[in-house]
Amino acid sequence: MNEPVKIFVTRRIPLAGITMLKEKGYDVVVSEKDGVLTKEELKSALLAEPYDAVLCLLTDTIDTEVLAAAPHAKVFANYAVGYNNIDLNAAKEKNIIITNTPGVLTETVAEYALAMIMALTKRIVEADSYLRAGKFEGWEPELFLGIDLRGKTLGILGAGRIGAQVAERAYRGLGMDIIYYDVKANSALEASTNAIFHDTVEGVLKAADVVSVHVPLLDSTKHLINKERLAMMKPSAYLVNTSRGLVVDEAALVTALQEGTIKGAAIDVFENEPALAPGLTALPNVIVTPHIASATEETRSKMSEIAAANIIAVLEGQTPPNLVTV
Ligand code: NAD
Repeated sequence: MNEPVKIFVTRRIPLAGITMLKEKGYDVVVSEKDGVLTKEELKSALLAEPYDAVLCLLTDTIDTEVLAAAPHAKVFANYAVGYNNIDLNAAKEKNIIITNTPGVLTETVAEYALAMIMALTKRIVEADSYLRAGKFEGWEPELFLGIDLRGKTLGILGAGRIGAQVAERAYRGLGMDIIYYDVKANSALEASTNAIFHDTVEGVLKAADVVSVHVPLLDSTKHLINKERLAMMKPSAYLVNTSRGLVVDEAALVTALQEGTIKGAAIDVFENEPALAPGLTALPNVIVTPHIASATEETRSKMSEIAAANIIAVLEGQTPPNLVTV
């Protein structure tokens, strides 16, 4: 009798995808640890069985050593759209297919970025803390003044799937003007939102009232927002980052916020997650959330189905729907 196909899932995820894999008759092992496996734990978990496929998370570092611990694996299916946690060259060398879960979380993350833009400019989190601290003594003419967004300029850095959806919502829903920087122009976005393309990051930073970052983490985007570029922003401007922590120099951001270089920031992703840069949480003009931009019941469940569908496709000898190439 043939050995059953074996799948390792590095952490508990919503059941939909696990069920799909089990319905195929695969033997699915989900890590029992309620947390991220250390590299050693991940390697020994993979070495325990001849796994045919691995469903991994963006908190797992998938490098040469980890790939080598799964010599039978044909695919590592990342449960995320970003795949900066995976050494693509090492996977290619070992003929291991890498997949991701794009598309499904686009609107979810776009909604979240918009929620951050609104919460930040309306000072909702600050005001909530103030009230809970028992400081509210009645209506005041100048209590927690924020800004209106209608007619303000939203600068998008990286007008791909998510960035474009943020722009659409801000344009249609809020009446904001859209400018953007990307390595390539997005003519569909320009047509639908009158967005104006800038061929430099600086052009967007200088002109925007709110900057929302949506680039992937690449060598070219590491510290895309640094001390010098923060200094180019208007002192009245806000920065929102729901992309990846390393895209923003977090220490430089703390200093910029302390010194009033910019007015505020809302950040969902951090350079050294789960650690935060010293001083960040002491600032009142900052909203920090624990990497939850895609965390809706619907999306996390669909991501689980997509990761499973990618695994099934590879194991059935087809090209997976969401193949990631170097
Ligand atoms: P995408 O690939 O559709 O869009 C990225 C855009 O950035 C593209 O248009 C690309 O041309 C552009 N780009 C690439 N390099 C650039 C550079 N150097 N300068 C300017 N623009 C550049 O990706 P997406 O689906 O929109 O997702 C964007 C990123 O958001 C992901 O890579 C991921 O890291 C992050 N993300 C975060 C969360 C979260 O939970 N906070 C959830 C989903 C995605």
